[in-house]
Amino acid sequence: MISRWNEVQAAACTDELDLRVYSSQLLGAEPALVLHGGGNTSVKLRQTNLFGEVEDILYVKGSGWDLASIQRPGFTPLRLEYLRRLAGLEQLSDTQMVNELKGQQTLASAPAASVEAILHAILPYTYVDHTHADALLCLSNTPDGEALVRAVFGDLVVVIPYVMPGFDLAREVARRFPKEAGPNCIGMVLMNHGLFSFGADARTSYERMIQLVSMAEDALKARAAWELPRTSATLPTARVDLLELANLRARVSEAAGSPMLMRLWQEPREMAFVARADLASISQQGPATPDHVIRTKRLPMLGQNLDAYAADYRGYFEHNQSRARNPVEMLDPAPRVILDPELGLLTLGKSASDCQILADIYRHSMDIMQRAERLGGWRALSEGDIFDVEYWELEQAKLRHKGSKPLFQGEIALVTGAASGIGRACVQSLLARGAAVMALDLNPAIGQGFSHPNVLGLECDITDQTQLDAALETGVRHFGGLDMLILNAGIFPEARPIAELDDDLWHRVMQVNLDANLRLLRSCHPLLKLAPNQGRVVIIGSRNVAAPGPGAAAYSASKAALSQLMRVAALEWARDGIRLNELHPDAVFDTGIWTPEVLESRARHYGLSLEGYKTRNLLKVEITSRDVAELAAEMCGPLFARTTAAQVPIDGGNDRVI
Ligand code: ZN
Repeated sequence: MISRWNEVQAAACTDELDLRVYSSQLLGAEPALVLHGGGNTSVKLRQTNLFGEVEDILYVKGSGWDLASIQRPGFTPLRLEYLRRLAGLEQLSDTQMVNELKGQQTLASAPAASVEAILHAILPYTYVDHTHADALLCLSNTPDGEALVRAVFGDLVVVIPYVMPGFDLAREVARRFPKEAGPNCIGMVLMNHGLFSFGADARTSYERMIQLVSMAEDALKARAAWELPRTSATLPTARVDLLELANLRARVSEAAGSPMLMRLWQEPREMAFVARADLASISQQGPATPDHVIRTKRLPMLGQNLDAYAADYRGYFEHNQSRARNPVEMLDPAPRVILDPELGLLTLGKSASDCQILADIYRHSMDIMQRAERLGGWRALSEGDIFDVEYWELEQAKLRHKGSKPLFQGEIALVTGAASGIGRACVQSLLARGAAVMALDLNPAIGQGFSHPNVLGLECDITDQTQLDAALETGVRHFGGLDMLILNAGIFPEARPIAELDDDLWHRVMQVNLDANLRLLRSCHPLLKLAPNQGRVVIIGSRNVAAPGPGAAAYSASKAALSQLMRVAALEWARDGIRLNELHPDAVFDTGIWTPEVLESRARHYGLSLEGYKTRNLLKVEITSRDVAELAAEMCGPLFARTTAAQVPIDGGNDRVI
């Protein structure tokens, strides 16, 4: 492992805390050291308080911060001496420990300190770095792990057999470390958990981490355990059965008690891993380091037998629940990682980021397991030890204090015409309610249109069935299914009297406004049927359905036919629990068609001011894309749970419609 230390960048740091931020980010930049919130760091500083007294203050990573992106406010200042005294107590529950740490903060607004704060306090070094380095976990999680670790590091490290993180671990280290650390000691190995390094300055502590990890990597190389199996596995070329995916996601969501996103990963390394002959043994032992369990659960599901997985999970809970000091509530028995020999790796979560994080964690876990296997056998911690972390009191407390979840968390919507106007606003309204969105548009800019992991921008001409199928496949591989469909894309051609209306224009309007929507409905129907909270469709119609205008024959006829299509679908699909509703907007001027020049000229045509033209309705209100989008989103929610085939105007009141 190479050092990322850069003397120029380090020299730009203004003080020791700045250096702590800098070297923490260096650790965070290396996924083979820490992943997504894993690991922690600290620095001990001497500061003068309001009374002019000098105090030793421990600045330790606060919870909720990631080493890769940590900043000064991410470090919580705590009175060091008090923390050291805590380590001498016979026992302290984790809830008490959190309370004691909070009470020793010298900055009330700082985040809650890492639960490993006391451990950092008792290590007698200015800088302390802690990672869950992959290479160390390979050595440690083997039958002769401790002997191997000692052989590799000698007296450079103190080795602490596994103890659950938190107060018990801090107390154990407080007892053992002073006795076992010799003059050459530069680090500490926590068996089955991770690695510490320390030093008098930021660089020394960081470089020692790199040194120790490099030694572990070299040891793997020397034992022919570094090279991963060749990923000769060919990528599956056949199209994935979207209904198989959506059905799997529906079943997992049911077991989880709420909808989940599911992402399919089929890179060569994942396909090679799921093709291993020993998959059933190697993958069913436990996580690479205990804190992964909070995200991954103890075991991935092998194949698709969800009933068996859930039954095993209940068995694991019942078998181990007596270990907890206080009564514990069982978490949902649904898997978060699935290994399917045909499909590949699947990850499940409440958001696209969750799915990504799980994939990152599991990919590293795959490498660790495969290397440890070559080293003499992969051995994870016992299920009891993993249970203790999954069900420890601080995690259980989070369950009790969880707030209300976003309305559409874990659900997936598809919006057409999503690059601008009402479509774009619909994406934002759905996103704000926690949904993941497949955002389709003819405009190639849709790919970069939304910088949010929950939005997948897909360039697609919806009048082309092949493109539509491809977009749906990409979307379902990415999110797992489809719950909501917003049919928004449409064209509004220049005014043309019927006498001059040519076939080409007529057909073009029908193709986009009607035929494409028929295909979308037909293609999405089997997916919507599998929606965990039932399928919902919202159609963006038009005021012209009830009150057409001269010169708009093709547009008005296409939207009227679309309304009729919606009504028939509502009749046919009610048995599948799918509801369809339609909005009829009028005079929404903040869309692409309405440039300021066009607006000015229309206003002049009617002899109105711009404001007067925009609010030319009974209520004298302006109607924006956002107004339409918010109503469309609500139509997918519980307010409209008992309504299908409704047609709701959103036009400020129009006497012709009324
Ligand atoms: Zn740790």
